[in-house]
Amino acid sequence: MVALILCICGCASNPASHAQQAEATAFRFEFARVVMGSRARIVLYAPSEGDAVEAARQAFDEMDRLNLVLSDYTDTSEAMRLCAAPIGVPHPVSPDLLDVLLKSARVFEASDGAFDPSLGELTRLWRSSFRSGRLPDPDQLADATARSGLRLVRIDEARSTIELLAPGVRFDFGAIGKGYAADRALRVLARRGLPHAMVDLGGDIALGEAPPGESGWRVEATDDRGEARELLLANLGVATSGDTYRSVTIDGVRYSHILDPRTGLGLRSSLAVTVIADEAWLADAIACAASVLGPKRVQPLLQRWSATRILWIPSQNGSAEDDES
Ligand code: ADP
Ligand code: MG
Repeated sequence: MVALILCICGCASNPASHAQQAEATAFRFEFARVVMGSRARIVLYAPSEGDAVEAARQAFDEMDRLNLVLSDYTDTSEAMRLCAAPIGVPHPVSPDLLDVLLKSARVFEASDGAFDPSLGELTRLWRSSFRSGRLPDPDQLADATARSGLRLVRIDEARSTIELLAPGVRFDFGAIGKGYAADRALRVLARRGLPHAMVDLGGDIALGEAPPGESGWRVEATDDRGEARELLLANLGVATSGDTYRSVTIDGVRYSHILDPRTGLGLRSSLAVTVIADEAWLADAIACAASVLGPKRVQPLLQRWSATRILWIPSQNGSAEDDES
């Protein structure tokens, strides 16, 4: 899902221009590992290989740890154990799960439910459609749609508890989890004294301080005229959503892996979107919401997070406006 190529600046090319001695002696390191079923890449600047390797290991471990909290691919994750908890009873949760749910609730409300991480029953149905090439059964689709919606989940921040208000609610943090994990991995690197770093988790990207001697990380994105643009960014999150690689065609209609929670159906627009926001979790969630809402209906959401920038990537056949679903 990466219509976005991150061009990392080379090693510090002109040490004499660096403001600080520490930056002047920083070398560029790059690491990759599979995390959350996606390729995770870390680029960082460090004074020694030992520092770089240990910091990257801890950052990858942090993302793996969050996967065990958030994943809906394993029944033993904290999120899936929560879904199996008794209905109508406050259930204590970890600070990580509480934080993700609170952040999710903000985007859920602001997007009028277009971003909904409690539509796991729907995504489960669609995953089986992706395998079989057949549309979900209409009754099952209606049932799964009725079980979706964060209004069925009560979050008590002060007590750090979650209460499920109806049976069959299932979480799917697929549109916020990778961005969230990238942010947290970046924070691990900064705490180890390596703030000049970026973490790319399957196209959800957390950018830290710029490479030494540079004013930002070079991010190449496609703009709404379909032209490549180079952006110089730092201390931001970037995410791209769309169906370029993840869609299924059934009876000649192409359905995206991003679902419209109102209908329970995969989006039929082939529009993709790149979002730049303060943090990667927010860029990730807004990219999903924007895909559902389209260029016009997304505007109220952008007033809530005014620093957010959206680049619509048009389909091959039409403009961004034509393609609104
Ligand atoms: P990508 O995986 O390409 O980064 P997204 O970040 O947009 O794409 O996440 C899409 C995933 O999020 C889907 O595969 C699904 O698991 C889940 N999802 C689908 N539709 C929604 C939605 N409307 N709100 C929240 N999560 C969704
Ligand atoms: Mg994403």
